Amino acid sequence: MTNPDYLWTPSPVASLPVRGQTERLPIHRIFCVGRNYHAHAIEMGRPVDKSVERAFYFTKSPQTLVSSGATVPYPPETKDYHYEMELVLVVGKPGFRVPAERAHEVIYGYACGLDMTRRDLQLVAREKGRPWDLGKDIEQGSVCSEVVPMEGVVIERGELVLEVNGQTRQQSDLSKLIWNIREIIADLSLFYHLQPGDLIYTGTPEGVGAVLPGDRIDGRIEGVGDIVLHVGAPE
Ligand code: MN
Repeated sequence: MTNPDYLWTPSPVASLPVRGQTERLPIHRIFCVGRNYHAHAIEMGRPVDKSVERAFYFTKSPQTLVSSGATVPYPPETKDYHYEMELVLVVGKPGFRVPAERAHEVIYGYACGLDMTRRDLQLVAREKGRPWDLGKDIEQGSVCSEVVPMEGVVIERGELVLEVNGQTRQQSDLSKLIWNIREIIADLSLFYHLQPGDLIYTGTPEGVGAVLPGDRIDGRIEGVGDIVLHVGAPE
């Protein structure tokens, strides 16, 4: 196959390092699950009743991905830049309308993620019924650790912790997910043909809050790994 001629050099493919591998994992899309821990849904003023509600999703561009350890500028047009510590599910096989009992077949592995959020802009959008893009689709706002290969493994529990400057701000357990890993894959694959390299940020527990220039965020998930982000000065 010959490469087509482009007017200029295309942007590089977003990718992540993989534990124990020299090859990097190419990223296709970034999906995020909204409100997926009860205590966080309540702190956002929108409790979830699973018996009558369905999970919802939003997307972030792959171009917003940044690796753990980075220093990112405090983003423009916000006064309330929030961290959200999340388990990231990495899809390794195509899947469409995947039954929950077969969901493990599409799992490549997991990572630790930060779904960084301009909370002030997200809440304005929410109240006015506008899209969330300005609040969520933030340049260098999708932080991810190395990917840990765990083919076919469904994670059901494990402590999740986030610290800012060494102080614990989020502490929960993956067993508290409202929609668990199998349910997320089954439901999301009703809307999308899941593809290798799709990342699914599975939602954040309670304790979200703001960071400031100079802050250091440390997160970890039991059985997966850890993640670091340094917040730099505004541009
Ligand atoms: Mn989130």
